[in-house]
Amino acid sequence: MHRLVRIYDLFRRRAVSGNFCCFYCGKMRPNSARSKEHIIPACLGATLSKTGTPHICKDCNTRAGEEVDLPFCRDRFIESKRFFHGITNRGRRPVFMVGRIEWTRPERVELYYLEHRIIAYRFRTQTNESCVMFGSIGQVATPEAEEVIQKSLKERFSGHRRTSLKRAESDEERALFLAIQTLGQESRIRASIDITAWDRAIVKMGLGLACLVLKEEYAQSPQADRLRSFLWENDPDKRSESLLHGSAGILAQDKYKTSHLILPSPNLHAFCLTDIGSGIAFTASLFGEYENTLEIDAAGTFCNRLPGTLMRGVGWIVDPQKK
Ligand SMILES: [Zn+2]
Repeated sequence: MHRLVRIYDLFRRRAVSGNFCCFYCGKMRPNSARSKEHIIPACLGATLSKTGTPHICKDCNTRAGEEVDLPFCRDRFIESKRFFHGITNRGRRPVFMVGRIEWTRPERVELYYLEHRIIAYRFRTQTNESCVMFGSIGQVATPEAEEVIQKSLKERFSGHRRTSLKRAESDEERALFLAIQTLGQESRIRASIDITAWDRAIVKMGLGLACLVLKEEYAQSPQADRLRSFLWENDPDKRSESLLHGSAGILAQDKYKTSHLILPSPNLHAFCLTDIGSGIAFTASLFGEYENTLEIDAAGTFCNRLPGTLMRGVGWIVDPQKK
């Protein structure tokens, strides 16, 4: 009976011409509100054609871009991977942030590698002003170095005051620069990834891909609502109370830890969905660095060699586009 009602619902919804169900908010929207969305963020090199045409409303697309994709794209790990793979996003070149200098001084100084062996030190002064100081690994050619510095000031460190030992505006600043200069080989760098940004991005990709494959039936399901409540919750405490835990990109149960995702190339990303009867398991491997749950053959086809309880799975492999 329940299933009949659901099928009737689907026909009824389709009969309302010119409307669609938005994957991200689950609401019926007029066709005029439809927009093109990268379910897999463009910052990973994914193109629109790789994932078909998802049904996303303009409001959700904008919000997902600002709240989900952007923080994920700017995560230290993702940025460093984009840097090495040469993936730009809307003309913005990725920068490899090494990490934060660990020391006893009060200033929080972040260390970036730029092109042509240029290093940027980013910090806030005691009056909370954003500053950047440049250095280099060994000797560098001056015209090239200055070009890299000017570009990074425009693209990455806009709004930062460029400073140096010569330009120091106070004794505190001068002392900080001298401390940075004398760090040498003994310095310790601490780096971490933005788990919140990862969790939200993975949940967004999982929700979008599940809706794309399983259509309205999944888009209107309680499982999809659960993902949405996590995706759109801005309060980190409330998000962490949720039963969804996306640690390193897994939304799966213990039994999946036994099988593996095999990637044809370490430069590819793979995203997998599995129908586990009680719900959809979604797993992701970015740049081939994270192994989990499903098997995919060299052509990118899903191999059905999974534990007996698994009914079906779908895998995507995305080749980062060099632009
Ligand atoms: Zn929407």
